[in-house]
Amino acid sequence: MSVARLSERVRRDLTYRSYPARDWTIPRRHDGARVLDVLIVGGGQGGLATAFGLKLERITNIRIVDRNPRGREGPWRRFARMKELRTPKEVWGIDFGIPSLTARAWYEARFGRQAWERIDRISPQAWRDYLDWYRDVLELPVENEVEVISIEPAGDYLRAQLRRKRRTERVHARKIVLATGIEGNGEWRTPPALVAGLAAARYAHSADEIDFRRLKGKRVGVLGVGASALDNAAEALEAGAASVDLCLRRAAIPRVNPQIWLNFEGILGHFAELSDLERWRFMRHVMEGLPVPPPQEAFWRCRRFENFRWHSNCAWRSVREQGDTVAVETEARTFTFDFVIFATGFATDLTARRELAPIVHHIALWRDRFTPPPGEESDLLARHPYLGPAFEFTERTPGTAPFLSRLHDFTLGAMPSIGLSGAAITGMRYSMPRLVNGLARDLFREDAADHYQDLLAYDVPELQTLDSASAWIDSLAADALADWQQLVESAIQSSRRPKAKKRSKSKMTALPD
Ligand SMILES: Cc1cc2nc3c(=O)[nH]c(=O)nc-3n(C[C@H](O)[C@H](O)[C@H](O)COP(=O)(O)OP(=O)(O)OC[C@H]3O[C@@H](n4cnc5c(N)ncnc54)[C@H](O)[C@@H]3O)c2cc1C
Repeated sequence: MSVARLSERVRRDLTYRSYPARDWTIPRRHDGARVLDVLIVGGGQGGLATAFGLKLERITNIRIVDRNPRGREGPWRRFARMKELRTPKEVWGIDFGIPSLTARAWYEARFGRQAWERIDRISPQAWRDYLDWYRDVLELPVENEVEVISIEPAGDYLRAQLRRKRRTERVHARKIVLATGIEGNGEWRTPPALVAGLAAARYAHSADEIDFRRLKGKRVGVLGVGASALDNAAEALEAGAASVDLCLRRAAIPRVNPQIWLNFEGILGHFAELSDLERWRFMRHVMEGLPVPPPQEAFWRCRRFENFRWHSNCAWRSVREQGDTVAVETEARTFTFDFVIFATGFATDLTARRELAPIVHHIALWRDRFTPPPGEESDLLARHPYLGPAFEFTERTPGTAPFLSRLHDFTLGAMPSIGLSGAAITGMRYSMPRLVNGLARDLFREDAADHYQDLLAYDVPELQTLDSASAWIDSLAADALADWQQLVESAIQSSRRPKAKKRSKSKMTALPD
């Protein structure tokens, strides 16, 4: 089956679940303009799936914006430097249970069934291509190169300031969903003390766009041991780097991935229902206890190069420029590099998010809501937002910022509250319905009084009553009478015609062949 035929199939499948087909949210206006039901910030997989989920719920008064150009949403075509996703290829979820909309259906249509059988996992490029198709076939109206620069309360709504090139626009929305990605509750961060004396040309963060061709023949140092450390090391080696030295603080490369353990229905679907203490304990172990190892594929990719080395117990103490090179001092020795890459991940820090600046002080973090037992503290977890069951922010001081229930945080920051959910492909099967149902529920409940009035005013007859039926019978009778009159009239007319006409007709029929 071709991709075009698969697209037809999707459209057909959608008709099987098209009832009831009416939009039902009650229109609201502010300053003469229609208030959005939902504004979605981010057009990656999370934003796209939210939009589709809302469409299935018949909530179509929405906008989706992404600050990046089309196709460059999320990491996949920018800095996802692995050869394949970490997630098993069979993963599903953003399809909302529609088989023709799965990544597998798309992959088989695009590359053939045998190609699907041959791969272990999907490549990041193919995943992004799939997302492009998903956006198109579902006609999701993403507005690219539009950035949300601030969010604040405005009466019964939230007000967002949008920027497109130099133009700004204010929109009001009843709900806003932040689908702003893995770093959506913070920012990618290089250790400030280590980069303080470095020129920009001498270093990069692993999430930066890097021209690896420039590293040909160069000595490259990488700090970190996660997936992106190994992916960036591999890219540099494959681009012809003279050497790559990967330095990690730990005594050994981690080998056990606790996130794999999380992949079962109980945790994926119901983690959010656990008590605060239970959630804290699980996530403390997952996020702090056991560091996530690099994927096997990334490790082999580096390992086949003899000029690749890794150094454990090798935290960087200082980094400084020395002529055209970078001197890195560690506990064990000093390295000389031409270029260094910080694979140091991101920091969870809501104050780093520009769009949240006007309201960040109102948002409750775990540290505001929960005190762990002695010996089970975690500064990392404590910095995460304490979210409600549909990813909504909650108030630091109850009663002071009720508007926060309108702002939903579908990012990796949701992990301590809801488990593997925002910004994680595996979690989407459960997290998407959770988010979308929460949005629909709130919009409906808020309008319950209006819906009730609507019901009282409802007067569209489904059944034809006696009155209208008798009118119908009368009209039938009138038609029949008119027909009968016409018949009689024409009979009279024909009886008055001259006899000759009749004769000529019989003559005609009597003509020989
Ligand atoms: C290198 C890498 C590899 C990964 N591999 C896997 C994997 O194998 N399996 C897995 O399950 N997960 C993986 N992840 C995690 C996760 O699946 C991805 O991060 C994924 O991109 C998350 O999708 P998202 O839609 O939530 O966010 P994103 O895809 O990051 O999209 C967020 C979008 O929000 C936009 N945005 C942000 N702020 C604003 C703003 N203020 N205004 C407008 N737009 C804004 C951004 O431009 C971006 O396009 C990986 C992550 C990375 C970084």
